[in-house]
Amino acid sequence: MSECTEGAGASCSSCASAGSCSAEEKQRHEEEQLQARLSHIKHKIVVMSGKGGVGKSTVAVNLAVTLAQQGYKVGLLDADIHGPNLPKMLGLDNSRLQADANGIRPMEAAAGLHVVSMAFLLEHADNPIIWRGPLKHTVIRQFVADVQWGDLDFLVVDLPPGTGDEPLSVAQVLKDVDGSIIVTTPQDVALLDSRKSVVFSGQLKIPVIGIVENMSGFKCPHCGEEIDLFKKGGGEKAARELQVPFLGRIPIDPQFVTNGDLGQPLVLAAPDSVGAESFRLLTRRCLEFVKQEKQQT
Ligand code: ADP
Repeated sequence: MSECTEGAGASCSSCASAGSCSAEEKQRHEEEQLQARLSHIKHKIVVMSGKGGVGKSTVAVNLAVTLAQQGYKVGLLDADIHGPNLPKMLGLDNSRLQADANGIRPMEAAAGLHVVSMAFLLEHADNPIIWRGPLKHTVIRQFVADVQWGDLDFLVVDLPPGTGDEPLSVAQVLKDVDGSIIVTTPQDVALLDSRKSVVFSGQLKIPVIGIVENMSGFKCPHCGEEIDLFKKGGGEKAARELQVPFLGRIPIDPQFVTNGDLGQPLVLAAPDSVGAESFRLLTRRCLEFVKQEKQQT
């Protein structure tokens, strides 16, 4: 057996003796390294949706920032390998990841918030990633095991839409995910879209924290009248029918788009907005969920 020069928690890719390790030794070292990283992460939350464009990344970013604002140490993992948007939403789109002997250094997005995304590895943002499942699994594993996350209270994972390779890899790599947040919109299709995420969570033994109804109602900035552009209540109805908690509504607010494009999450750019208040409520419900979960174990 070769002598591992780096010890548990360090990367095989930076170990001087990795070349003389057998395949089994390498696999064992990699597993030890993954376990060592995971042992420093208290809670893991995945944000998912049945389809794209419903505001899943918006929810992941604003939830992570709100947790960090409240003094928690937060990691944000962009598991959307094909469409990584988080760096743009956090004003980090020109950043590149750096690595040293202890692994990859995540990017600091705000005080207490560190981020890793495929976008930080792309030479050109327009380059498509054309990978099959096993390669995506490898990179997701590296995004957990090879990253110097340090001690985290929360790792928030933004999953790509649907229930394909990446959500499965994230569930397998993280092993015991605390819970999933399912983002949907207010239309009737919310039930159809959310059901798959609820069933996916159930099959992988991930407790459902609840459903969030995004883009729910719009207050006219001119007359102040409320208009239900995309209807209202589909997410709440879906939560009721699927027997999972309802986590609340987030209204349509053009500031999500303008601030998102400027790389400023709404909770930082417009903390007094109704949208920011919705995120504080969502964060409170997540904190209550993990607290209850802890009491039950
Ligand atoms: P997904 O991750 O589900 O694909 P995104 O979070 O990228 O969705 O959101 C898609 C677009 O919708 C973005 O431009 C975002 O700024 C915008 N958006 C998300 N939520 C809202 C909202 N509540 N009000 C207005 N625009 C929103």
